Amino acid sequence: MAKGDPKIVLIYTGGTIGMIKDFKTGSLRSFNFKDLLKHIPELHLLDCEISTHSFAMPIDSSNMKPTYWAELALTIKEKYSTYDGFVILHGSDTMSYTASALSFMLENLCKPVIFTGSQLPIGDLRTDAKENLITSIQLASLQDNGAPVIKEVGLYFEYKLYRANRTTKINAEHFEAFASLNYPALAISGVHLEVNYSALLLPKTENELVVHLDLEDNILLIKMFPGITEKTIRHLFSLEGTRGVILETYGSGNLTTEDWFIEALQKLIDQGIPVVNVTQCSGGSVAMGHYETSVALKKMGVISGKDITTEAAIAKLMYLLGRNESKTNFKTLFELPLRGEMDA
Ligand code: ASP
Repeated sequence: MAKGDPKIVLIYTGGTIGMIKDFKTGSLRSFNFKDLLKHIPELHLLDCEISTHSFAMPIDSSNMKPTYWAELALTIKEKYSTYDGFVILHGSDTMSYTASALSFMLENLCKPVIFTGSQLPIGDLRTDAKENLITSIQLASLQDNGAPVIKEVGLYFEYKLYRANRTTKINAEHFEAFASLNYPALAISGVHLEVNYSALLLPKTENELVVHLDLEDNILLIKMFPGITEKTIRHLFSLEGTRGVILETYGSGNLTTEDWFIEALQKLIDQGIPVVNVTQCSGGSVAMGHYETSVALKKMGVISGKDITTEAAIAKLMYLLGRNESKTNFKTLFELPLRGEMDA
């Protein structure tokens, strides 16, 4: 470390990555995150100054929720002017959800916020945690003429940095646990760190960071399947207090054209509840009107999620509902890429 090296803060929220093996008992246990540098002495070799911060009660990411997203966003806000880059250690299970949410909550972000985690604990002999952590820190430290190279929320796992709000966890077993099927990797770690400069999000002007904490969580995500009954749909569509609905549809945004379904959907839309069409396919895009089975949806004013992931759609819906936009603005904004989360 030398004077002038980038200052990086590691924020530990929980998850497998923060565990070590107790060699006496053979079991895995969480360790005091403040001692991270003791457990991974290699971190001293990096050309940056590393500080650490941990959630008071680190969690398995299956317990993640918007209140923790707010805690994370506020921690970043508080440390924003002191640090050049942020590395968030998070369980892999819901990492794409948290990272997508943070991408919307942190408006005008001009510094790297890199999420990472691991499939095996940092204290396991065959761990993937060390490489994930070390490279994430290196990516967060990358600078060009004193300015950070990455100015967005990324997710680094198994040799690839992705735009976080384009990712999905695709494998519970393989080290390659994430995929970004509709957007190329932002960087690839091989013998050299290769940055895909043309894929990076470049904020036009460097405005002050704005942190949005009002997320509306009274939303519904319905994965459609052949055979879903009228009773189920009518029940779900009439739930009290629902502020927005995401329908996970087939292929390029298609759904049953049965009268009862169209009628129930129309009723929902007439109440002013935004309905977003997101495809169940991991890759590709919604294109309403392409098939007869989506023409009615388009006419009714269903919002196109285009090629957005379900994780990012949930985050975007919560974020935009929290902004209390008018009905027309809401549709326009949802169908526009706000943080590079969908194609234009
Ligand atoms: N269940 C763990 C979590 O998401 C798995 C992991 O850390 O990857 O917190």
